[in-house]
Amino acid sequence: MEIESGQNMLPVYSPAELDRDEGKAIEALRARSQQPIPDPDRWLEEELERSILTAKLDTLLNWGRRWSCWPVNFGLACCAMEMIAAAALRFDISRFGMELFRASPRQADLMIVSGTLTWKMAPALKMIYDQMAEPKWVVAMGSCAISGGPFADSYSVVPGVNRIVPVDVYVPGCPPRPESLYYGLIMLHEKISQDSIARS
Ligand code: SF4
Repeated sequence: MEIESGQNMLPVYSPAELDRDEGKAIEALRARSQQPIPDPDRWLEEELERSILTAKLDTLLNWGRRWSCWPVNFGLACCAMEMIAAAALRFDISRFGMELFRASPRQADLMIVSGTLTWKMAPALKMIYDQMAEPKWVVAMGSCAISGGPFADSYSVVPGVNRIVPVDVYVPGCPPRPESLYYGLIMLHEKISQDSIARS
């Protein structure tokens, strides 16, 4: 129901109408997200034929990208505590050039999905991912992010964030320790180092 209120006659929607609209958006996303999204960087495993110039540019560009990944500030559940620990002094994520967790996706090129993704949260995750700068990467941290974990059969939990966004690196564990996340970040560095502007 649309109610006209105040002098400006702005429409006011009831909470029930807002819930209904949000529910429709979530159900539409759910219907589109039944299959995992393939890794867009599978070509890395193929043999590359690159010119010397392109290879040199790639080396320089990838070196810069590798050491300046800025993660978007995004935690979902218990795994986020380990991600926060990984960023704190004892482990010191700045060794990877990642100390700048950004509050805005516009300033980030890495999303560490740490925790349980529910269908209600999925549209927000997709919107944040879409707003991030290219090139961008995703790390799925923990069993929940990889496959839904202990909640995989729940009606409300996405059985893997790769249903919503493409994932570059999977870090298993429930939760993974900061060292495991670091190992995943080293794998991500290796992946970035093989990227090529010829493919962009
Ligand atoms: S994987 Fe385990 S620790 Fe991580 S969010 Fe799921 S239940 Fe929590």
